Amino acid sequence: MFERMLEDVNPRVAAILEAALDGREISLEEAECLLEAEGADRHALYWAADKARQEDVGDDVTYVVCRNINFTNICYVGCSFCGFARHKHESDAFVHDTETLLEKCADAIERGATEICMQGGIHPQKDHAYYHEIASAVKAAFPQLHLHAFSPEEIDFGHRKSDMEIGDYLAWLKEAGVSSLPGTAAEILDDEIRDILSPRKLKTDRWVEIIKAAHRVGLPTTSTVMYGHIESPRHIAAHMGLIRDVQKETGGFTEFVPLGYIHERNELYNVLGSRPGATAPEDLRIVAVARLFMRPWITNIQVSWVKMGHKLGQVALDAGANDFGGTLMEESISRESGSQFGENTSPEDFRRLIREIGRVPVERGTLYQSLRRFDDPALDPVTPVAPVTPVAPEGESGPERSAEESASLQVIG
Ligand code: SF4
Repeated sequence: MFERMLEDVNPRVAAILEAALDGREISLEEAECLLEAEGADRHALYWAADKARQEDVGDDVTYVVCRNINFTNICYVGCSFCGFARHKHESDAFVHDTETLLEKCADAIERGATEICMQGGIHPQKDHAYYHEIASAVKAAFPQLHLHAFSPEEIDFGHRKSDMEIGDYLAWLKEAGVSSLPGTAAEILDDEIRDILSPRKLKTDRWVEIIKAAHRVGLPTTSTVMYGHIESPRHIAAHMGLIRDVQKETGGFTEFVPLGYIHERNELYNVLGSRPGATAPEDLRIVAVARLFMRPWITNIQVSWVKMGHKLGQVALDAGANDFGGTLMEESISRESGSQFGENTSPEDFRRLIREIGRVPVERGTLYQSLRRFDDPALDPVTPVAPVTPVAPEGESGPERSAEESASLQVIG
């Protein structure tokens, strides 16, 4: 069937796809070519990526039961694509106190969470010890939780306030309870692009330095890319090349997550004139290219349902992805920042969505260890739908932001 399909495909694209399926590593130029595939070339790409996915990880589709907690939205960095950050004097700025964080963790556990993902803005009055305090408090209260916390931007900030070596600082956070780091704040790992997106943010070399140091001290990380704004296929290919090179050296990435940029209500679109996000074919194309490009180094390619929605997410799982991401569990829904998809996805919904495309749902831990395989729908657990605990502002806390804004920190941090 593939041979017949290739008859209509550009010979260069056909050769790259055949090579990738034969197990040859594809080059940056080849990835760039695939990122521009259209028509029959694009359909062949999706097909090849799906075949590679099946060979690499089989038909299981994983998801993680987790909760996102953003402990503050006060941030001085000023990324042009961010709809989340607030100045401390704004009426909806917040810093959650420890009690609030612990209440959110307790609620998450009641709803089956195995992971807490914690990230926040870069609060200029906080320092390295702040992150340690948060991690210690959560881990002391809930030792069973996997604490997936602090973006490279937060690590950079905390580290610069400390007098430690970067490895020592990361080891100190690990000792406090951090088990892995989100590989966010990556956006596009190209300083020319970064200088436009967020001139005050950490540069490419520093992102790589922090990630490698984390991997060296035994803190695995995810890896991400944010696309659909001002970048070109060349930037995406180079970004993926850098991630692949780091993985060859450290083996510390658990997954690669393409994250589509959401353009509404930010400076990057409204003032700087970025594109209004990626098209659906682009969303699928980057997932497919990631599958072929990263093999065999990174075999978990995640779909961001927050960015793509459930239905396009299902299609992406047929174009190279094997993971549906996390439940997130945010309790409020807002369209303020423009996404229609930023709401909780329950484990039941994940299982239904996965079965609808003929695959097998598997609940995983943060590090992709299989926790429960759901072969037979008749044997599914009935998960109690716990009421979401409304967390009233108290102490330093103020009103919470929307689910999408919270979820968007996955991307940006
Ligand atoms: S993306 Fe993160 S670092 Fe940048 S402004 Fe928003 S909260 Fe701050």
